[in-house]
Amino acid sequence: MNPRTRKFLSYYKPYLGLFLTLMACAVTSAAISLLYPLFIRYITKTVLVEGFADALGQIYRVGAAMTALILLQAVVQFFVDYRGHALGAMMEADLRAELFAHYQKLSFSFYDGQRTGQLMSRLTNDLLSMAELYHHGPEDLVIYTARFIGALVILLTVNAQLTLAVFLFLPILAVFAVIFNKRMNRALKRNKERMGDINAQVEDTLSGIRVVKSFGNEETEIAKFARENNRFLASRKDGYKNEAYFSEGVAALTQLITVAVVVFGGAGIVRASLDLPDLITFLLYVGYLIEPIHKFLHFAMQFQEGITGFERFMEIMEIEPDIVDSPTAIELETVRGDIRFVNVGFQYHADHDYVLKNISLDVKAGDYLAVVGSSGVGKTTLCSLIPRFYEVTEGAIYLDGVNIREIRLSSLRKNVGVVQQDVYLFAGTVFENIRYGKPGASREEVIEAAKKANAHEFILQLPQGYDTDIGQRGVRLSGGQKQRLSIARVFLKDPPVLIFDEATSALDYESEKVVQDSLETLAKNRTTFVIAHRLSTIRKAKRIIVLADRGIDEQGTHEELLELDGAYARLYNL
Ligand code: ADP
Ligand code: MG
Repeated sequence: MNPRTRKFLSYYKPYLGLFLTLMACAVTSAAISLLYPLFIRYITKTVLVEGFADALGQIYRVGAAMTALILLQAVVQFFVDYRGHALGAMMEADLRAELFAHYQKLSFSFYDGQRTGQLMSRLTNDLLSMAELYHHGPEDLVIYTARFIGALVILLTVNAQLTLAVFLFLPILAVFAVIFNKRMNRALKRNKERMGDINAQVEDTLSGIRVVKSFGNEETEIAKFARENNRFLASRKDGYKNEAYFSEGVAALTQLITVAVVVFGGAGIVRASLDLPDLITFLLYVGYLIEPIHKFLHFAMQFQEGITGFERFMEIMEIEPDIVDSPTAIELETVRGDIRFVNVGFQYHADHDYVLKNISLDVKAGDYLAVVGSSGVGKTTLCSLIPRFYEVTEGAIYLDGVNIREIRLSSLRKNVGVVQQDVYLFAGTVFENIRYGKPGASREEVIEAAKKANAHEFILQLPQGYDTDIGQRGVRLSGGQKQRLSIARVFLKDPPVLIFDEATSALDYESEKVVQDSLETLAKNRTTFVIAHRLSTIRKAKRIIVLADRGIDEQGTHEELLELDGAYARLYNL
């Protein structure tokens, strides 16, 4: 079996009992519906036409039996409808949960090449039709196959000739259906892609809404959106056109079949090869032959709709996270924080130039190392290799003498704290945001961390103190305040290795001093990598490395490097 098919079917597994019960109910319902016309035939033919001793009594009895069956069918059908839809929805929820979990595993490189809107679309809209497919699919197949075969057998025994006449129409119907089905599918797939484009566009514009407004470019954004919106509209129209051809064609053919039954059946009665109850039986059952075709086509459409969503789901699920634990990866117990780079080379993509080449560095636990160099030279890249946000292309990095590829990711990242220029705060309270650094931390621990990060005072001045909802209207934190919250997070996390990547670059002079102060407290007794924009903030560094295109250009203390009068001196005197 194709692996995607196997995967598709595997989602039934947790609900197999329910699923089989539903199928049994579906068969029961189909069987009951096949019985009604037989009862009617019995009344018209056996009781009325051929004559029955107690005709009136028999009609009442048959009526009572049919009523009982209707009640039974209602109960069974209620179960199928309610539990069936629930089954589909549960399976859809499982898919969604799995995709979300997979998103969490994918690495920075994956996200570098993705648009958030498209990823959201795959998780929401695209999976919407899965529920319908998962339960209606098998249920409709079972119900309508049973009905089709049942009706066919009954009609063949009533009158084989007339049955074959009806059958002549079915291939035409089938060919017609297949053609338009294919076109509808194409339109559906395009719809999904373009819906994703719309989402991506909206996400892009809304994330940058402040830039849009500051440039007064609302009209440009409206025009960009209109383009995506119109593309989506065009593919919707195309879909509807084919859908209309399809359903109207099928409807007309269906009517033609009924006409054929009346004409051929009427002629049969005139020639006495058929009687009136036979014709009534045919008219009652002919729908049972046509309806399945309708349903199969509907199923084909549902299937396509579901499958395109499932394919878009699988496209992501089949991307193996490129940074994962090796099978032999270990958990680090107590970490001192020695970091060693040995001949590290790195490129973002196989067809890109190397950003770093031949980097060797030995940083002892507790060292304070500054990384400087002109913009775009690779400082951020160098530091992002330590927590394995990206995998080194050549060479290796060691933490306490263990190759970081041999350390469990969770263990490695627990031991490295990063403070960046951009601070991301999640929806929720100040307390929850700080506690992100150590889920489950007590209130005292959180307050302690906030105090160390110089954040306690300003937090107390917020409307609800630590319980102030940051996402709420009316609460705006300044850059410096946000940065102090992010430092409090790292205090709580308490990692032996730290990376400060231009943590104060976006701040004004006054906040910079406060934040710098909390950073220095944080750095005490930890191995610290500092990338700093303003060289004044790193003068105290025990060692400074100057990064250039060729790799590490110079290294030493501030004084030594000034003495050298090379790249560092040039940067410093800029
Ligand atoms: P710095 O932090 O020193 O300013 P970076 O490490 O951010 O420099 O970038 C180094 C080089 O790598 C730059 O040329 C930049 O364009 C490139 N680069 C940075 N991030 C990525 C990425 N995610 N994908 C591809 N190239 C990148
Ligand atoms: Mg940078």
